Amino acid sequence: MSIRPPTPERSLTEMSREDLRAALLALGEPRYRADQIHKWIFARGARSFDAMTDAPKALRRKLEEAGYTIGRAVVEKVRESIDGTRKLQFRLSDGAAIESVLIPMPGGVFTQCLSSQVGCAMDCKFCYTGTLGLSRHLTAGEIVDQVLLAPGTLPAGMRIDHVVYMGMGEPLHNFDAVLQSIQVICDPEGPGYSHKRVTISTSGLVPQIDRLAEIAPVNLAISLNATTDEVRDRLMPVNKRYPLAELIECVRRYPLPPRRKLTFEYVLLGGVNDSDDDARRLVKLLRGLSARVNLIPWNPFDGTAYARPDDERVRAFQRILLDRNLTVTVRVTKGLDIDAACGQLGERPDAA
Ligand code: SF4
Repeated sequence: MSIRPPTPERSLTEMSREDLRAALLALGEPRYRADQIHKWIFARGARSFDAMTDAPKALRRKLEEAGYTIGRAVVEKVRESIDGTRKLQFRLSDGAAIESVLIPMPGGVFTQCLSSQVGCAMDCKFCYTGTLGLSRHLTAGEIVDQVLLAPGTLPAGMRIDHVVYMGMGEPLHNFDAVLQSIQVICDPEGPGYSHKRVTISTSGLVPQIDRLAEIAPVNLAISLNATTDEVRDRLMPVNKRYPLAELIECVRRYPLPPRRKLTFEYVLLGGVNDSDDDARRLVKLLRGLSARVNLIPWNPFDGTAYARPDDERVRAFQRILLDRNLTVTVRVTKGLDIDAACGQLGERPDAA
């Protein structure tokens, strides 16, 4: 089975302005036409060539005949949690479904959690998406489509100011498409996010973290979740390939811009990785790193044997880290009632 996306056509939403100029030049069109089309897609939100009323019809047909489309995703469903979290379900042109979550933040803004694959190959045992396996990678355009379509699902006056690659999939397993999507999302003449407002979260693919460090100065989050190889091997099979010592050594090399911190996510599973000894080992592992720890009390889904630790245990774990001067937050669970919380994404078999 191929994990490559079907690509009979190419979406213009995966192109930076420079890419679009080159594509139109190859069709014998001048530079200003590329700028005109770019503006329609990224500033005016056009999703069809017919909407581009001031572009010559002949040009629009030429683009269609050359196999170009504008986007390969549509918003199929929007669900809103009682806490204001919104889960967007997108249907892709081949029928696959992906999800993206808009998380409300202080100040009336949202952080958007993006998917990078249909399903995921990493098989983390505490994650619903991991139970689905990997169907295929997303194209860069399908990742950008989530960014372009999400603002239209929000009430007027609300906006998204951060994107995190933390939805369905391991972003660094789909490296080239993710990198291309960052290029488009951070294009000042496109969606215009600064690299400071983009975070990649990874389960720990060491060679790809090193590659990312060379190319894109985005924020890095490591999904850590254990302090010994024995436990991490059980929770996250990727640890057998890149054990803890190798992973921590790799993130020590990551070139952090001044005043930025690496984020370590730590899903707390009752009785598995939430003991005082775990907290002390975590302090030791992160010694000397400019790091922030995000504790995530586990969000349950059917069919697993794990338990969410009680609040007292979470506080005790946090206290040990705080006493050693680590920056620690406990993630407030959001979107639990609509299966939009961390580790819960993916179409349920009984979904309407
Ligand atoms: S936690 Fe992330 S990397 Fe692990 S299975 Fe879930 S989506 Fe994949």
